[in-house]
Amino acid sequence: MNSQLYDKLIFEYSKPGRQGFSLPKRECLDCLDSIPQALRRQKTLNLPEVDEPTVVRHYTNQSTNNFGVDTGFYPLGSCTMKYNPKINEAVAADTTIASLHPAQPTDTVQGALELYWRLQRALCSIGGMAEFTLNPFAGAHGELTGLMVIRAYHASRDDNGRQVVIVPDSAHGTNPASAAVAGLQVRQVNSMPDGTVDLDDLRSKLDDSVAAVMLTNPNTIGMFERNIPVIAEMVHAAGALLYYDGANLNPLLGVARPGDMGFDVMHINLHKTFSTPHGGGGPGAGPVGVRSGLEDFLPNPRVVKNNDGTFGISYPDSSLGRISGWLGNYTVLVKALAYILSLGKENIRMVGPLATLNANYVMESLRDLYLLPVDGPCKHEFVFDGLRDKSQGVTTLHVAKRLLDYGFHAPTIYFPLLFHESLMIEPTETETLETLDRFIKVMRDIAHEASEQPELIKQAPLTTPVRHPDDTEAALHPKVTFDEL
Ligand SMILES: *Cc1c(COP(=O)(O)O)cnc(C)c1O
Repeated sequence: MNSQLYDKLIFEYSKPGRQGFSLPKRECLDCLDSIPQALRRQKTLNLPEVDEPTVVRHYTNQSTNNFGVDTGFYPLGSCTMKYNPKINEAVAADTTIASLHPAQPTDTVQGALELYWRLQRALCSIGGMAEFTLNPFAGAHGELTGLMVIRAYHASRDDNGRQVVIVPDSAHGTNPASAAVAGLQVRQVNSMPDGTVDLDDLRSKLDDSVAAVMLTNPNTIGMFERNIPVIAEMVHAAGALLYYDGANLNPLLGVARPGDMGFDVMHINLHKTFSTPHGGGGPGAGPVGVRSGLEDFLPNPRVVKNNDGTFGISYPDSSLGRISGWLGNYTVLVKALAYILSLGKENIRMVGPLATLNANYVMESLRDLYLLPVDGPCKHEFVFDGLRDKSQGVTTLHVAKRLLDYGFHAPTIYFPLLFHESLMIEPTETETLETLDRFIKVMRDIAHEASEQPELIKQAPLTTPVRHPDDTEAALHPKVTFDEL
């Protein structure tokens, strides 16, 4: 925090008569008279009266109270907090895109539809899928959509007894939640000590009640599922479909394709793998891809290329219906295509190997001080089970909080649930060697502090504007307006 002067709410600076703006001259005073009395504001709006420097300083200082990818290293495992190139923002903010209305006639938005169609095709070739819908708003929304596609597929074959989704015990919480929202039951499959699927357990749980098996590959501890061809064969032999949670697509980008591994349906988190900004609940996009034979069930509306080369919007009857308004989070889609095109085919193949190299470098540089429950090499991320020296009672939570004092965002903590003290680190490909080395040094310093000054580290964070918020209370009863205070 820069100065105590600026930690108030903007309303608390208000002094009658102070003003920080000047409106342009109204061109049409008469037209105001045409607004019916009933529609006019009856009371003066309660707005703060503040001068311009106060407003600018207030919001500029506020903006530095939070942590973002643009302010520092953000190794939040599973979330792929890569740098968001600013060219994406410039393209999405262009008025030819930002001022479109979704209800415009299709002949006035041919460029926008072509862009949409091109992203569909790009994701098909990256995922090895036949068709994509870009309508879902998030990864979890994509999971729900994908499971609805799978339900529609089984229903089209009059195979209505399939009400179960198999999910590994290492899965992201959205997997079982999406299955429940889709009206399906969840059956858990165990992981082997290295986090991969226990094949015998899977075999024993596959029967004709199973609609789908959901997998993340590489899984949540960064291990590639080597048995994926065997798993795909087992799942298909049981009449079920294989779903790919694409949140971990980053290490495979342009290198390997879920479609080639035998997956039938997948989602991609554009806000993770394709560098569109995320955090705080959005905005995002969770496009869903399907293999050939499942296209008909995708949600409406669909963007199609007509035989004459123009682009249109279609509403096939076979579809499962709508899962979102209009065509999804359009500007997020624009940013993802900008990212793909600015990298190009050759560079996109570098993303996965570099993300993997960075993760292994950090893992190898810290494993003497942090407990590595599953030996590497890992893919884009890895999980420590807390410090090796736990004798002073310093936990993963303490390490995470202490990192904030050193200017780093914390890794993901206490997920996956496979270990008690999970500390999940994903550096991504966009960090320099210098940043990784600084992070490694700080993590090593913290490990030494934990042994030598445990009381200090248990007080952390010591330097942040807010030190120990009540997370539960903040989530349950957020105070987001002045009046409620
Ligand atoms: C992030 C994530 C999801 C959910 O994606 P959202 O876009 O946050 O809804 C699902 N699975 C895994 C493995 C993830 O990391």
